[in-house]
Amino acid sequence: MWAIGRHPVTQSLHLDQASVATAPSGKIVVNEFDQSNVSNIFAVGDCAEGIPELTPVAVQAGKFLADRLFAGSSKVSLSLLISNHEQTTNKHTKSS
Ligand SMILES: Cc1cc2nc3c(=O)[nH]c(=O)nc-3n(C[C@H](O)[C@H](O)[C@H](O)COP(=O)(O)OP(=O)(O)OC[C@H]3O[C@@H](n4cnc5c(N)ncnc54)[C@H](O)[C@@H]3O)c2cc1C
Repeated sequence: MWAIGRHPVTQSLHLDQASVATAPSGKIVVNEFDQSNVSNIFAVGDCAEGIPELTPVAVQAGKFLADRLFAGSSKVSLSLLISNHEQTTNKHTKSS
């Protein structure tokens, strides 16, 4: 199998019509709160610019965003997410 890279599927969303800023990669530009330049539009996971393309990161970012929007929580800590991911990976590697 040849893996030659990935790209976000954002073109069909017509983000330009909503004035949402994208990076040259097509990913959505977000701040540390996953918020785009349009205050009520957010992006998490692989389609967000500058975010590590990893499943646990996307899952946790989604949970944190839901918390922030609906329960009032803190911002995403990427270092914490990556640390948790490494701990989980090490745990599974050692136990197998
Ligand atoms: C080959 C490969 C191997 C990987 N291995 C790992 C790994 O070992 N560990 C790891 O942590 N990560 C791995 N990843 C990365 C991981 O898959 C992604 O980081 C993760 O899936 C991102 O989640 P997401 O929800 O942002 O995007 P996705 O999982 O891509 O989900 C996006 C969803 O949105 C849907 N969608 C798209 N456009 C629209 C639309 N207009 N309307 C409605 N729905 C839409 C898509 O169909 C899709 O279901 C790998 C990725 C690839 C490609």
